[in-house]
Amino acid sequence: MTVDADVLVVGGGPAGLATAIEARLRGLTVTIVEPRGGAIDKACGEGLMPGALPALARLGVDPPGFALRGVSYRSGTSRGAERRVDHLFSSGEGRGVRRTALHDALTERARSLGVVVVAGKVDALEQDAHSVTAAGIRARYLVAADGLHSTVRRLTGLERPVAARGRRYGVRRHYHAEPQSDLIEVYWTPTVEAYVTPVGGGVVGIAMLGRKGIDFDAALAGIRPLAALVAGAEPATELRGAGPFRQSTGRRSHGRVLLVGDASGYVDAITGEGIRVGLAQAEAAIASIARDDPKSYEKEWMRRTRDFRVLTAGLVAAANSPARGAIVPAASALPHVFGAVVDRLAR
Ligand SMILES: Cc1cc2nc3c(=O)[nH]c(=O)nc-3n(C[C@H](O)[C@H](O)[C@H](O)COP(=O)(O)OP(=O)(O)OC[C@H]3O[C@@H](n4cnc5c(N)ncnc54)[C@H](O)[C@@H]3O)c2cc1C
Repeated sequence: MTVDADVLVVGGGPAGLATAIEARLRGLTVTIVEPRGGAIDKACGEGLMPGALPALARLGVDPPGFALRGVSYRSGTSRGAERRVDHLFSSGEGRGVRRTALHDALTERARSLGVVVVAGKVDALEQDAHSVTAAGIRARYLVAADGLHSTVRRLTGLERPVAARGRRYGVRRHYHAEPQSDLIEVYWTPTVEAYVTPVGGGVVGIAMLGRKGIDFDAALAGIRPLAALVAGAEPATELRGAGPFRQSTGRRSHGRVLLVGDASGYVDAITGEGIRVGLAQAEAAIASIARDDPKSYEKEWMRRTRDFRVLTAGLVAAANSPARGAIVPAASALPHVFGAVVDRLAR
């Protein structure tokens, strides 16, 4: 059997590029199919949790950004006394990294290792006992990293329906402004959570998460410290949104097709760790391919995503419930619990 590559990666976002680098580090040949050119941008809070940095370093990637020492939850309304709780990461620093800078760093490393990137979009695939073919490329395995609205997930029947009730979305914009702190600040209002993440170079990203139809400017105006931060500051980017977040899968592989990153199922951006989890999934997927045992990926996927699935889903349930307003007061009353959860997710 002749194939064009050992691994065909669908999607050249962070999870796809990390998968391709992992494959090359194990001596496998790789082609990525990605429709978008240049430094790919995306709506994201851009906070890399401490656990993401050693995972990137293992791949030989060290993106530029702004060192982040922890997370600060704050009550975000203009009325009443501000409640807040800060926690410094116990496992080292995280980093605020512009998506375009992360993409450039991953792409440069992938290209230096001989990863082939082809412009194209996968809309169909075929597989037999020995290979998978998509976008005219035949490979021994296909890893789908095509994001929240994965086409491959749908084509392989791995997608599971998600209830429309409680759907959440995100929207972000950057500003030319000096950072106010080296913590990821999260302002909780009755309708949104607003994440402030410095990304270096005098640029600060603000991402808001909430129900459909987030009014970014109105929410910003209602959070006094953020209104002050952006007063007179030039926006550095346009508003960009994504969602709905919740995407579900029954299994993570189908024959020779494996799902990684948001394509493999996503809970929510509320705990800001999609990239860290995607890197862990990329490593596990390629390890199972290197063993020629794609079925073993499922167990590793379950293990490596457990905290994200359980803790993130729990926080989203609280955020969507009448107890929403009690989250910051409870976290500030129980700082050790808050710190333990942050550290658990930051690993
Ligand atoms: C508002 C918001 C805030 C967030 N904040 C954070 C945060 O602070 N920290 C964090 O770690 N994570 C955060 N996340 C999550 C993070 O952005 C995602 O988990 C991450 O982008 C997933 O990477 P990915 O490579 O799986 O998917 P993506 O980055 O979406 O990449 C998918 C790629 O696949 C390509 N593609 C799509 N369809 C096809 C096709 N049919 N054929 C070929 N290619 C295709 C796309 O062009 C894209 O380049 C946030 C997300 C949002 C929306």
